[in-house]
Amino acid sequence: MSVSGAPGQATVVETSHKPPLHSHGAGQARPGKKTDGFLAWFRRIWAPPDPDLVDAGQRGEWLIAGVRLLIIVLILYFPLRTYFDSPNERGREAILWLAVAALAEALIVYSAVMRSWGRGWIGFFSGIIDVSLVTLSLFIFLRLGQPLQVTNDLLIFPVYFLAIGATSLRYDWRVCILAGTTAVVQYLGLVYYTEWLWDLNDAATSPILAEQFSWTSQIGRGVLLAMATLLATTVVVRAKEQRARSNRDRLTNLANRGFFNESIHRIGAIASRSGDPVAVVMIDVDHFKKFNDSYGHQAGDIALVSVARVLSNQFRTTDLVARYGGEEFAGIFPGMNIQDAINRLEILRARMEGTPIHLEKGKVVRVTVSIGVAVWPDDGSDLSEALRLADERLYRAKQGGRNRVVGPSGTEPERAPQRRASDPH
Ligand code: GH3
Ligand code: MG
Ligand code: MG
Repeated sequence: MSVSGAPGQATVVETSHKPPLHSHGAGQARPGKKTDGFLAWFRRIWAPPDPDLVDAGQRGEWLIAGVRLLIIVLILYFPLRTYFDSPNERGREAILWLAVAALAEALIVYSAVMRSWGRGWIGFFSGIIDVSLVTLSLFIFLRLGQPLQVTNDLLIFPVYFLAIGATSLRYDWRVCILAGTTAVVQYLGLVYYTEWLWDLNDAATSPILAEQFSWTSQIGRGVLLAMATLLATTVVVRAKEQRARSNRDRLTNLANRGFFNESIHRIGAIASRSGDPVAVVMIDVDHFKKFNDSYGHQAGDIALVSVARVLSNQFRTTDLVARYGGEEFAGIFPGMNIQDAINRLEILRARMEGTPIHLEKGKVVRVTVSIGVAVWPDDGSDLSEALRLADERLYRAKQGGRNRVVGPSGTEPERAPQRRASDPH
């Protein structure tokens, strides 16, 4: 068993509090780091949704795959009806190809979703193909020699809205934007082509005034599609925000225990494929009951926010730090061996001890933490077992006098400043 440090002492100084921390999950932005520029910002914005939303999106895709067949019947109803009436050979051929393409898409997407294939791209694929099929359906009117049906049609055009709305079930706003933009570009492109090809307001083409062509109404249609895209995107972004909020602890803004428990399985699965070590850490504030008794519960809350901030500043963006329970925190450092983990935790312990916490009336105190650490694969067959071991070592850190880091036998921190033994008050 290795130990470092000794219990610290509460002191009174003055400071001010910064805004609350951001949630600090694996792959999420570190609080206060604003130097990463436009590219990093864009990469973060463009990042795929979290794994649970991907799961929800996959279920959404399954739903869409079923409903799609219905939509396809709707899309095809009009052209197919025309197919049987039409003497136009080219138009009939186009209708047939459209029917084949629509059914092929429905079947490909349905079987891919059933087999969980293409989780990364199936939403993009189906979203873009769906709107393209609507465009193709309209295009067929052109082949049938009915150009005003392309621009003024009231049955097929609204199917764009179904296709765009359905993308929100993917819970990936990038899919909404891509499908929506595709719809606007394809539709206005098709209208432009139709208007270029035909004299749409010619008496022969447009026998009644109501069916006359006007760019104003076409632009209006484009704007409606853009609005639908915006709505679908907003629904998805809101869902993502709510999801992120449900993963966070309200007081400290760190990841909560639920998110930690989900993540440990995910990180464990990644590690078992790569074979890279993963350090698992349990951290507990020392004598916190006494702290509450001495300074009050509100002061205790301020201290927990301060502890969370120190933790967050000490962790990398790839690490995960969570509030595990009342005054207990848990961390995961992917790709870190035991000696590096212990050295980093020793720095963390010392920083925690040295960080002043502001209370009311200019009172400033300090708290110390005890830390237990274990590293997979040496400590246990999976990360949950390593976490149990880290918890056992945390208990030993408490027994050993608190304000210390305990790892496996033979691992000593490089920096272990000795301090006067006393509790924080
Ligand atoms: P040890 O050094 O052995 O960990 O002692 P301890 O007093 O820290 O441990 P104990 O488990 O006896 O007490 C934990 C205390 O943490 C009790 C509880 O009131 C306090 N606590 C838990 N959650 C919160 C919280 O959200 N806010 C505040 N202010 N206190 C909390
Ligand atoms: Mg405690
Ligand atoms: Mg505790």
